[in-house]
Amino acid sequence: MSKQLQSISQGKNFKAVNAGPWGEIGQYVLGEMKGKVFLKDALGATGTELSFGVLPAGVEVPFFHKHKQNEEIYIVLSGKGEMQVDEQAFDVCEGSVVRVAPGGASCLKSAADTPLTYACLQMKAGSLTQWAMADAEIAEQKAAWK
Ligand code: ZN
Repeated sequence: MSKQLQSISQGKNFKAVNAGPWGEIGQYVLGEMKGKVFLKDALGATGTELSFGVLPAGVEVPFFHKHKQNEEIYIVLSGKGEMQVDEQAFDVCEGSVVRVAPGGASCLKSAADTPLTYACLQMKAGSLTQWAMADAEIAEQKAAWK
């Protein structure tokens, strides 16, 4: 039985869920894959897929994969291990952030003694036309918690 995302709240312009403590990501089951959960549908996201995953100590993803039109950003939340993109392998640890371009064949493995917990954002490469403050504006809204 897979752990389930918990709805926190939702409104006209948002959905909020709790994926649980990073140490419990291993309790999610997706088909044959243990320790993986996708959030796009739970969040109603339309431009980004977000997933969390964990590789137990000494485990590697059993395949390399690549995307046709999406880029991915991996964010290591805890632990350490190695990542390989195409022919290049490199160490990753908590705080590491890696972008993989479409067509890049990637794989991830945890260190022999440490699980590797990570988030992965997936979005269409080249879709971002404005960002940060260029896309933001101050909104006239009062804080409900006051
Ligand atoms: Zn992918």
